[in-house]
Amino acid sequence: MILLDGKKAKISILEELKEELLKLDRKLGLTVIQIGDDPASNVYVRNKGKMANDLNYNFNHIKLDDDITEEDVLALINKLNNDDIVDGILVQMPIPKHLDSKKIQNAIISVKDVDGLTDINMGKLAHGVDSLVPCTAMGILDLLRFYNLDVEKKNVAIVGRSDLVGKPLASLLTNNNATVTLCHSKTENLKEHTKLADILVVAVGKPKLINDEYIKEGAVVVDVGINRTEEGLVGDVDFEKVKDKVSYITPVPGGVGQMTVAELGKNTYKAHVLRKKKL
Ligand code: NAD
Repeated sequence: MILLDGKKAKISILEELKEELLKLDRKLGLTVIQIGDDPASNVYVRNKGKMANDLNYNFNHIKLDDDITEEDVLALINKLNNDDIVDGILVQMPIPKHLDSKKIQNAIISVKDVDGLTDINMGKLAHGVDSLVPCTAMGILDLLRFYNLDVEKKNVAIVGRSDLVGKPLASLLTNNNATVTLCHSKTENLKEHTKLADILVVAVGKPKLINDEYIKEGAVVVDVGINRTEEGLVGDVDFEKVKDKVSYITPVPGGVGQMTVAELGKNTYKAHVLRKKKL
């Protein structure tokens, strides 16, 4: 069994990116809007800041009170949309319930939408048009590529159909000529689907949901889940139970999470390039 080491792949991706950044005439700007003080979000935003620092980006972390009005959030996004030195904007999820998260995400102009979650970018991805792709989905494809694991002609099962991970990944892999089965909470006989997969991606958020009974001998397993439990951070896959059956597997932590942050760095650069093309 070979570990799909996200840290190693991340370093390689960021080194390549740094070469491109050297050719630019200014620092790129990445703005993260956080609303409220969710502890997990604090960690995620800190990690984004570290990556941005490493790439010498101007990182702007705007932390807003959790009773802010939707109008004020939209006005802030509008200002950032029109600020030429801001290349990428993202709103850290989750946000307080009184705010409409779809409306707020869609207020970000599509060429600065570094999370790739606006309807425009999701639509472009579904249509196979070059666009800003959600970071976790792109990170999974880049991690497989780093290990020379081609998805073309492979049977891929994805468990979890969220807008954040499962759905964009299904489009991305389909565009890359994989045969994709997208499973979810209403899927009947989940095992029958997952056992056919050459590559199994699990993004559910249920600790150790997937064990050896769900997996084909020699499959590649990508565990997206990050679950905080008494034994620490664990994935959606029971690593101990599957490790002797798989050919490749991502560790948790140290797998997909590392790639997600690296892709945000890449998307900020891509956003800059896309916007320059439009001007
Ligand atoms: P979500 O809650 O939005 O979606 C979960 C999906 O799982 C749903 O589509 C649901 O239908 C499906 N599901 C639920 N129970 C199921 C079951 N028993 N069988 C089959 N499908 C089932 O979650 P999300 O935002 O996609 O996140 C999923 C997990 O991935 C979480 O643990 C999250 O923390 C993690 N995550 C990790 C990264 C990363 O960078 N590693 C990024 C995003 C999310």
